Amino acid sequence: MSDSTAEIKSRNFIEEEIDKDLAEGVYDHVITRFPPEPNGFLHIGHAKSIILNYGLAQEYNGAFHMRFDDTNPTKEKSEFAEAIQKDIHWLGAKWDETKYASDYFEQMYEYAVKLIKKGKAYVSDLTADQIREYRGTLTEPGKKDPNSDRPIEESLQIFEDMKAGKYEDGSVVLRAKIDVNSPNINMRDPIIYRVAHMNHHRQGDKWCIYPMYDFAHPIEDAIEGITHSICTLEFEDHRPLYDWVVRECEFENPPRQIEFAKLYLKNVVTGKRYIKKLVEDGIVDGWDDPRLVSIAGLRRRGYTPESLRRFVELCGVSKANSTAEYPMLEYCIREDLKTKVPRVMAVLDPVELVIDNYPEGESEELEVPNNLENESLGSRKVPFSKYLYIERSDFMEEPVKKYFRMFPGNEVRLMNAYFVTCTGCEKDENGNVIRIHGTYDPQTRGGNSNDGRKVKGTIHWVNKDTAITAPVRLYENIVDEEKGVYNENGEVNVNPNSLILMNDAKLEPSLLDVKAYDSFQFVRNGFFTVDSKDSKDKAPVFNRIVSLKSSFRLPN
Ligand code: ATP
Ligand code: MG
Repeated sequence: MSDSTAEIKSRNFIEEEIDKDLAEGVYDHVITRFPPEPNGFLHIGHAKSIILNYGLAQEYNGAFHMRFDDTNPTKEKSEFAEAIQKDIHWLGAKWDETKYASDYFEQMYEYAVKLIKKGKAYVSDLTADQIREYRGTLTEPGKKDPNSDRPIEESLQIFEDMKAGKYEDGSVVLRAKIDVNSPNINMRDPIIYRVAHMNHHRQGDKWCIYPMYDFAHPIEDAIEGITHSICTLEFEDHRPLYDWVVRECEFENPPRQIEFAKLYLKNVVTGKRYIKKLVEDGIVDGWDDPRLVSIAGLRRRGYTPESLRRFVELCGVSKANSTAEYPMLEYCIREDLKTKVPRVMAVLDPVELVIDNYPEGESEELEVPNNLENESLGSRKVPFSKYLYIERSDFMEEPVKKYFRMFPGNEVRLMNAYFVTCTGCEKDENGNVIRIHGTYDPQTRGGNSNDGRKVKGTIHWVNKDTAITAPVRLYENIVDEEKGVYNENGEVNVNPNSLILMNDAKLEPSLLDVKAYDSFQFVRNGFFTVDSKDSKDKAPVFNRIVSLKSSFRLPN
């Protein structure tokens, strides 16, 4: 920035900490990481963490590592690992080599041996229940594990035998020897290794002992030379243990942990295990169902990486838990798309309109700009003739107050085309309107009168002969907002009407040659994208990303 009046961007507390570390010479560079567990798809909360960590690495000309935290083989799968990488790439974060915590198992084992040798860890054969009981509570101190006096040689031997498969799951554990009376429960001789005869998605059957997260994570960070290990608030109480591990393992220039508040969205399902349940119960169409806030779901819904980055930026980084509103996310995608995508006409719930005074058999093409706010999107030709479709809700035989659209005797503008006066309608034997009639004024081509005459209503339309019919899906929150997100069993209260299928939508012909993720504004109906899973060549399926209206205003 060249002059002193240039905008000063306020720095978040993590940037302030990093600035301080660099100024004090604690580190002379910055390396951050994103450490997902490959046990599900990523969601909007993870996007925040990715954007934050990657953004910091960029800001400080540092490096960003992508590392799978795959130390718990029970739920981990390669399928998830692939989906996660795809999502992070899509968000725009770049990294060199994909790292895996499991690649450090050998080193972790060696560090555990080192701790035993230093008298800082011991093998315990207390049962899981006993360990829990001995640990005490927030108000009661812990009790000494009789195993903590076990001779070093003996612990070393048993630990080796654990590794060799001589012990059954849960029969023995390795505990760090710290302080059973610590006011911090995490420091009361935490378990750092357990026996688990499980197949690992990368290591196969090589290991039957696995390190616990609180032991593994700091070692992973330290091995990679991470400087700032940024995690969410629930790990704040684990920080003393993190520091203990890197200190006792004697890493030089060890990383430091900084916690920030998780991103929560009001009335939205974010937790991985809840999304997983919806997927497993078949309530949604996979992890990428457009109603989910998984990154894959948001992408399929039509969200862009830019819109998610904007959203994360608006949420800010803080140390205090807070909840963001879903409408803010919607605001971000509207803002992103409004000048980027063409505005086209699509009638979602069609009824026929016949222009009685338009010559039978004739047609014409109207030149329509693709986006009035962005000339570079050019224009297109839209066919018009005697037979059209309009939205069923744009006609009322007996209008209510302040209804300015089609009703007998009223003149409206057919967007970009002509003024049309409604003359009446036809109905079937059940009284349903099946056809509307009107007459047009040829002098109003393009949608403007030349005599200063004004109309109050402008409606969209699609030419009948050239229309394409395509399924269009409208979405509501998957959560029944009146009941709240979760019920007493910890399950999601599912909104039975979260998917509304418009099977007979009529679209202008420019929407035939489209490809997955192409997005459009359907005038008056919202922003829509071509579904990536269910669309076929020349047979697109559209998802509504967001409607046009919002009560959301940016706070200033
Ligand atoms: P979930 O709680 O949804 O199951 P998780 O924390 O178990 O998520 P991980 O794969 O362990 O999922 O998380 C990877 C990283 O993403 C961690 O550093 C974690 O702190 C961060 N993260 C997870 N959820 C959020 C969130 N809601 N907001 C910000 N960061 C998050
Ligand atoms: Mg986790």
